Amino acid sequence: RVLVGNLIGEDHVNYVLMYNMLTGIRIGVSRCQAKIKRPLTDEDYLARHKYSFDIIGNELTPSAKYDFKFKDYAPWVFRDLREEHFHLDPADYLLSLTAKYILSELGSPGKSGSFFYFSRDYRFIIKTISHSEHKFLRSILKDYHEHIKTNPHSLLSRFYGLHRVKLPRGRKIHFVIMNNLFPPHRDVHETYDLKGSAYGREYPEEKAKLNPRAVLKDKNWVNRGRTLELGPEKRALLSEQLRRDMEFLKRMRVMDYSLLVGIHNMERGNRDNLRENQLSVFHPTVPRRKPSSVKPAAEASNVRKAIRRSDPKSLDVASQLPAADSADLRHFLFYQDEGGLRATDEANGNLDVIYYLGVIDICTPYNTAKKIEHLWKSMTEDRHMISCIDPLQYGHRFLNFLLSVMRGGDLSLRPQGLLPDR
Ligand code: ATP
Ligand code: CA
Ligand code: CA
Repeated sequence: RVLVGNLIGEDHVNYVLMYNMLTGIRIGVSRCQAKIKRPLTDEDYLARHKYSFDIIGNELTPSAKYDFKFKDYAPWVFRDLREEHFHLDPADYLLSLTAKYILSELGSPGKSGSFFYFSRDYRFIIKTISHSEHKFLRSILKDYHEHIKTNPHSLLSRFYGLHRVKLPRGRKIHFVIMNNLFPPHRDVHETYDLKGSAYGREYPEEKAKLNPRAVLKDKNWVNRGRTLELGPEKRALLSEQLRRDMEFLKRMRVMDYSLLVGIHNMERGNRDNLRENQLSVFHPTVPRRKPSSVKPAAEASNVRKAIRRSDPKSLDVASQLPAADSADLRHFLFYQDEGGLRATDEANGNLDVIYYLGVIDICTPYNTAKKIEHLWKSMTEDRHMISCIDPLQYGHRFLNFLLSVMRGGDLSLRPQGLLPDR
């Protein structure tokens, strides 16, 4: 699982797929965008718009290099999510993805066989998903939309679009567009994918030493003695948002999601050039944004404002989470410090670490997880290969583990296999 992509040139096996995906997005999204905004209806969640591209073109679609079909799912809903809730500039979105027709392919980092592609500016990720994940996402779209509406600071993957490309020989490829949690302008020194489970949750340490971009897991986190260094204010806010997001996933009966954690050490800065190397692979002329310096005072006051807005008498700490009030990523509570969340001490003062956090891989419902487990068991004849627990237990184990890894967290919340040795 190495976060380095290969630029897709015309001789790449997936060039045609990339071309078709980007053409579909460009036409589909701008079609919807060109219309006057209207309130959403129930039909919008189920809607799908079909486009048929060919080398000649017609009144609906301009000519394209290849013949293919494209489906745009719930375009009005995603437009609303992008503009009203994720505060994306519509022109920016299209330009990032389709101005140059450059994507880099991460290949298939997971067991699932999904492919990952980065937009040339590294802001967006296209992930191919299975038909069942696709159906599942459509089925929960209304709830997801509602959750994002009521939780502007949600840590869940931000879905910006859901599409399908059908190639001439009939191969159907479903994909989502989502946020890249990691910043284009900073090295991420350590990456973890945390689920709160011990089983199979260790990346071999010998291999990790040779590969600074390895995605480490729960056991590595525990064995390396990591904690999320957050002061009382941020700890309370993050815990509460994680709890709400977990409750939502539990209600949707989702399994197997994880918290992706990227750690940037500000003292170490970008001198290892992990980021530079990556960017040169992605796009040689990517504009290198000057890292704007973090303004500690402004940042602290934002959090304080968030706290002040809450009703102290209310048991619902939830109200500490303010509504998003700006069209800028930096105004999302957990993404406002250089695109991430800066570590703080017990007096809520800044520490020199930035976390990049998000809950990812949220489209696997319990039934699919069980099926995969049975398939594994039948192939490996290992009854203990994967222990599939229900979404309720999964969610609580996940949240408890994350609460336990915050500084001062309660170790008794952890499963046995994830307790430190000493
Ligand atoms: P599996 O089902 O085997 O876990 P998957 O194909 O569903 O794999 P994910 O779990 O979604 O893949 O992601 C795999 C890896 O890709 C993550 O561990 C992370 O390193 C990277 N990744 C996924 N989503 C993002 C994101 N939004 N931002 C940055 N990196 C991501
Ligand atoms: Ca995963
Ligand atoms: Ca998955």
